[in-house]
Amino acid sequence: MRNTLKFVIGNWKMLSQQQHALLLARDLASYCKKQSHHSVRTVICPTFTQLVSVEKIISEMQIASDSLALGAQDCYPAKEGAFTGDVSATMLSDIGVRYVIIGHSERRQKHHESNEFICEKVKSALEAGLIPVICIGETLAERQEGKTAQILEEQILGSLPQNFSGIIAYEPVWAIGTGITPTMDELQENISIIRTLLEKHQPKTASQTPLLYGGSVKSDQSADIFSINGVDGVLVGGASLKADEFIKIIQSAPKD
Ligand code: PEP
Repeated sequence: MRNTLKFVIGNWKMLSQQQHALLLARDLASYCKKQSHHSVRTVICPTFTQLVSVEKIISEMQIASDSLALGAQDCYPAKEGAFTGDVSATMLSDIGVRYVIIGHSERRQKHHESNEFICEKVKSALEAGLIPVICIGETLAERQEGKTAQILEEQILGSLPQNFSGIIAYEPVWAIGTGITPTMDELQENISIIRTLLEKHQPKTASQTPLLYGGSVKSDQSADIFSINGVDGVLVGGASLKADEFIKIIQSAPKD
């Protein structure tokens, strides 16, 4: 999966009403349809209620799935059962979802999701044939206490099943939705730490695992982020809700 392929993943969070979601999906699908190179893969992750209609737009406009694909923002580990309010990975796969974000810091913090629970979700996503996008990252306090590497190692050890196959997104919690991003040096250092940890704990798959950065990514610094050695893409929250801005971020990804 790694090599030259770059990922631009949009996390729409719980920020878009239906009408806006449909317009945004149409704009992005029109842009991606015109792209002849397929070295940049765009993935959009609407909220659960919008997945079916966004999928319909992508399939009706006949967009190649290696250009624009559909992702979800979460899944529940069980295939089915009495889990009121939850959505399984199998159900997502059934409606044409191909990627799923798991372990986003908003879920780790606001829903108290543990590394172990996240690992169960990752296994269920893989069983359902989805590509999991696992978010890891330190809080501001952990960063200030010099614990970044330790936290990243705990999250990698606890959240990933053996021979993990999927995508990792490094999202420092203090950078999400704050407009603050790490310096390029700090980002380079943490990306290298994660790559080394993956090689240590996931030796069979580490070299194939794309590593993304997420946290207040905007079009004015996305090209710099892409230029960092070892960065295979970006996970974008707020800026993915404006078609023009998100398209500029897609355009800043290097094309081979
Ligand atoms: C995110 O939600 O994963 C994210 C990175 O958000 P933002 O880009 O708004 O910081």
